Amino acid sequence: MKPDFDLNVVLSRIEEAIEPYPKAAMFELYERGYSSLFEQLISCIISIRTLDETTIPVSLRLFAVARTPAEFLILTPERLTELLHGCTYPDQKAYTMLGIARRVMEEFSGQLPTNFEQLTSFKGVGPKCANLALGVATGQAAISVDVHVHRVVNRWGYVQTRQPEQTLKVLEQQVPQPLWTDINRLLMPFGKHICTGNLPHCSTCPVLAWCEQVGVTKHR
Ligand code: SF4
Repeated sequence: MKPDFDLNVVLSRIEEAIEPYPKAAMFELYERGYSSLFEQLISCIISIRTLDETTIPVSLRLFAVARTPAEFLILTPERLTELLHGCTYPDQKAYTMLGIARRVMEEFSGQLPTNFEQLTSFKGVGPKCANLALGVATGQAAISVDVHVHRVVNRWGYVQTRQPEQTLKVLEQQVPQPLWTDINRLLMPFGKHICTGNLPHCSTCPVLAWCEQVGVTKHR
């Protein structure tokens, strides 16, 4: 018999369990001082289909050269692509970033809008990056659902969804707003290191008592 699912207790156990592991890239970069909405958005674009182990050094290399929309516009597409070397689709991401920088300067006086609808109106900015950047940089209540968050909450049986977009909608209804940013901060490293895609570490998992282990056929 499982105890009633208590999200506060589950998240506090996860907070302790992930302590030995590196923070998720965006949170790590925030702590290193790359905390503006523009920097967070740029790093999130770098992180698309790219491991944190690459996202962090590529972001640091780029920010050593340019940190603001005005500084990005000094770069040629070729130079920006070169700086993005190592992440996936560097030329496509360079094109996206320069488009964002140009529009910020032309339409928003150099400051990205802190509003989800306006932010997602930028070409190449989806709900995942908009919410993550807004949550980390501005402290706004926002949930970003990546593959880890999507997998973990489905395994718990907390949601029953097929796509991350559906997961976002359900989590926005079920999770109290003060916990929205914690969902990303905690479940990204938890999904990466403990509730892994293959062979999750269920036998030592601190939230096994609350987890339905939906779809888990083999585990460590
Ligand atoms: S018990 Fe297993 S499936 Fe459930 S959260 Fe822990 S590692 Fe993931």
